[in-house]
Amino acid sequence: MYITCLDLEGVLVPEIWIAFAEASGIPELKRTTRDEPDYDKLMRWRIGILKEHGLGLKDIQETIEKIDPLPGAKEFLDKLRELGQVIIISDTFTQFAKPLMKKLGWPTIFCNSLEVAPDGEITGFKMRIEKSKYTTVKALQSIGFETIASGDSYNDLGMIEASKAGFLFRSRSRRTIQGSQRSRRMMSSLRRSKRRWKNSRNLMEKIPHKKDI
Ligand SMILES: [Mg+2]
Repeated sequence: MYITCLDLEGVLVPEIWIAFAEASGIPELKRTTRDEPDYDKLMRWRIGILKEHGLGLKDIQETIEKIDPLPGAKEFLDKLRELGQVIIISDTFTQFAKPLMKKLGWPTIFCNSLEVAPDGEITGFKMRIEKSKYTTVKALQSIGFETIASGDSYNDLGMIEASKAGFLFRSRSRRTIQGSQRSRRMMSSLRRSKRRWKNSRNLMEKIPHKKDI
């Protein structure tokens, strides 16, 4: 009995902050978890930039409304949900996720929440739990599920490595998986999983070759 745990941004939908960086003309906001592994640090930095430019939640939500899922993502997710349970585990925030979940057919998502002042200024954020991706897959395992996990960034490595099978999906940087003591075992797992998931091959084709680690 297994549950598939998927990252959201970079796997099913484009990176929200990159889209907002382009829409707002603030290139610094293109920095993501692929570049900065410390998510708290990254978020505090983003909030500081928003404040500096006088931008609030509404400005970001307007951009998110225009974002579409990546090509094939909705179809892939629909097929996956026919085969078994799927949970999207994301470090994004409920205030950002809703329009995207609508476009993906309302899958289950576990994410975090923003703290927003009455005037719409983003003043902080509340993470659901520390290391939420890793903690969530371990919790699922503790109630009798095996997990399959896929994501594209540093913050996905915990859930990928803790899962029975995992996919590092279209990861931009080789550094993402460097330094991982368990990377060799993970790659073996990825390849085994790839064979099992023939039907999902189009979306999961970019598994890095062993020599890339
Ligand atoms: Mg991601």
